[in-house]
Amino acid sequence: MSEREAATDEREELRRLTSAVGAWLEVARASGAVGVPRSAARRSAASGEPTAAPAVPSARAEVAAPAAALPQRAAAKPVTRVSPPPVSAAPGAAPPALSDRGQGLQALEGEVAACSGCGLASTRTQTVFARGSGSAGLCFVGEGPGADEDATGSPFVGAAGQLLDRMITGMGLDRDEVYVCNIVKCRPPGNRKPEPAEIAACRGFLERQLALVQPAVIVALGATAVHGLLGTGESITRIRGNWKLYQGRIAVMPTFHPAYLLRTPSAKRAVWDDLQAVLRQLGRPVPERKA
Ligand code: SF4
Repeated sequence: MSEREAATDEREELRRLTSAVGAWLEVARASGAVGVPRSAARRSAASGEPTAAPAVPSARAEVAAPAAALPQRAAAKPVTRVSPPPVSAAPGAAPPALSDRGQGLQALEGEVAACSGCGLASTRTQTVFARGSGSAGLCFVGEGPGADEDATGSPFVGAAGQLLDRMITGMGLDRDEVYVCNIVKCRPPGNRKPEPAEIAACRGFLERQLALVQPAVIVALGATAVHGLLGTGESITRIRGNWKLYQGRIAVMPTFHPAYLLRTPSAKRAVWDDLQAVLRQLGRPVPERKA
């Protein structure tokens, strides 16, 4: 065969292959087998989830992406006994636009301020709604306001709040980047734990708050926060450091409350382990220093 004949044969083979691939693509498009985003395909491969659900475009899927990458990183270098949560592939409602979110939170704060849904309304100085922006995708949820918070109207401003701030900055985050709120919005008298009925009465506010903030990760500070978010009666000592899911879709890291750390400084190491896991879940760098 001459060189010219060989070149003609190669062009003909190329044309035939191109035609065959084109025909296959037509069939694949018609059946929906193409058009799946690569990130969704990677998530599916990592989690075993069917590809159809992640293919639905939603901002929730964007938030979940760092979580999907975590199992590979955690498997390469396990640091704590923390296991990453399974990533829900179910498409959630699209998060509200930032302006709507701000307006929604403002309106909700007004509702909370007027609330008399449980007995704590009669003993509070004022309601304590939240602080911070949540722009880091991270939300800390505590138990309820104490005396300092009741006096100022802002959560976590006393000694425990100052320790929480040091924990946040130790994570390499700005205080205002994270969203901080409580299970109940009014101070229980004498700083006692909120009663189950009070937690139940206030739960709707917390659920609406979190639906507006749409954090990628929630850190539950202490037993009351864990119970209020997850409804579990497991002790905080047993459950801390183990990933859970809030409403089946938002990763929750239970850990000790800063007030407990003030009384038990030896527990700080465990909390720092938990916060390191949170940073990995968020896809953020993990500083070397201890909180
Ligand atoms: Fe209302 Fe919650 Fe305050 Fe009870 S704790 S009065 S439910 S805002």
